[in-house]
Amino acid sequence: MDTSTVASEVAARMPALIDDLKHLVAIPSVAFPGFPSEPVQRMGDAVVDLFRRSGVGSARLLDIPGGYPAVYAEIPGPAASPTVLLYAHYDVQPAPLDQGWDTDPWHATTGPDGRIYGRGTADDKSGLIVHAGTMQLLGSAPPVGIKVLIEGEEETISHLEDFVDANPALFDCDAFVIADMGNLAVGRPALTTALRGEVSCTIRVRTLHHAAHSGVFGGAAPDALIALIKILATLHDDQGNTVVPGVSGYDWPGADFDEAVYRESAGLLEGVHLYGSGTLASRLWSKPSATVIGIDAPSVAEAANVLIPEATAKVSMRIAPGADANRELDLLATHLASVAPWNVDVEVTKIKAGWPFTVEMSGPTVKAAEDALAAAFGAPVETVGSGGSIPLINSLAQASPRADVILWGAEDMALSRIHASNESVDPTEIEKMITAQVLALRRLGRRT
Ligand SMILES: [Zn+2]
Repeated sequence: MDTSTVASEVAARMPALIDDLKHLVAIPSVAFPGFPSEPVQRMGDAVVDLFRRSGVGSARLLDIPGGYPAVYAEIPGPAASPTVLLYAHYDVQPAPLDQGWDTDPWHATTGPDGRIYGRGTADDKSGLIVHAGTMQLLGSAPPVGIKVLIEGEEETISHLEDFVDANPALFDCDAFVIADMGNLAVGRPALTTALRGEVSCTIRVRTLHHAAHSGVFGGAAPDALIALIKILATLHDDQGNTVVPGVSGYDWPGADFDEAVYRESAGLLEGVHLYGSGTLASRLWSKPSATVIGIDAPSVAEAANVLIPEATAKVSMRIAPGADANRELDLLATHLASVAPWNVDVEVTKIKAGWPFTVEMSGPTVKAAEDALAAAFGAPVETVGSGGSIPLINSLAQASPRADVILWGAEDMALSRIHASNESVDPTEIEKMITAQVLALRRLGRRT
């Protein structure tokens, strides 16, 4: 079946698939602690129903100890055909109205630009619609073996990694297709080839047994917050590059990120300069980036004229693809402790070592995916990185070390605004991604 035949079959199914997407967006499946569990459970059931209606009769809830269920299915392929696992997630970020939503985040709304607005329209309910649409096209006798895995806890503390580690056979396959990514812009097909990792720690500084009057004692005894600020200020050079000694980074070899799009989607205030050096893509995808994500110190409202005896900061550092997460965390912790001024008391506590991921580009599925993507979009394929990390990928790759990994999706980086207000998806991206997946899986099936 050629590209245009597949594309027109997909086009015919799009109105119903978009109805399904809108139905799913109306379920506020926030899996964060403290949010109601009923919508998350309802969402899991709705995803099972969607896949069963899409020809996947074996779709079922998979109990994940300690967490929300995943949706799982297996459909055998022709003898000796490869098996492909399709991954997306059904939980979403919260959508507080004070983020600045122009429409009800839990009511999918088509804008004048044709995009569909609402929490999860892109991240990642678009991904599970892409997979459901793919299965509708492939039918009950797909050209390759299929496994479906739709997670319910990607945006929060996931219990799926432990489950994968304990049950690797369920996730054994020849290729993982992760539909939780996106192109740089609508209509520009991209494969994501690298994900940064993330390490974090806290640093606590103490200088005094108790708060001391700043008039009586200020001028000689260091206050803890000033000491902490001096320590944190060493994370970047004057240009804004993260300069923790020894951490790795490299220049991004693929497509660059458009600065205007970056400014707009990041919500950067007019006139504020970008920092760091090198291409924007390198700064976002292949170089380390340290951020102070929280400080415990007296608030302005409770500020008194005292020397502050104790202050704590949490530091997060995105690390380059290919880096060793434990090593980078050691380097960060060692650096923070070593630059403390005035021999103040410092305690660094390591919190997290999240590994980066690099796609092995030489596998057969990657080639099939690249060709299919180019055909579906009618444009050359770019390679992009992702500043975010997907910790589960490393568990999946361990469960099935031979498997190729495809990272792509309908969440275009220019306009989707995932995790932010006015999240949206362009339905033409969903449509072309379904076409690309169907073409890729058919090509893989033909190889046997
Ligand atoms: Zn996501």
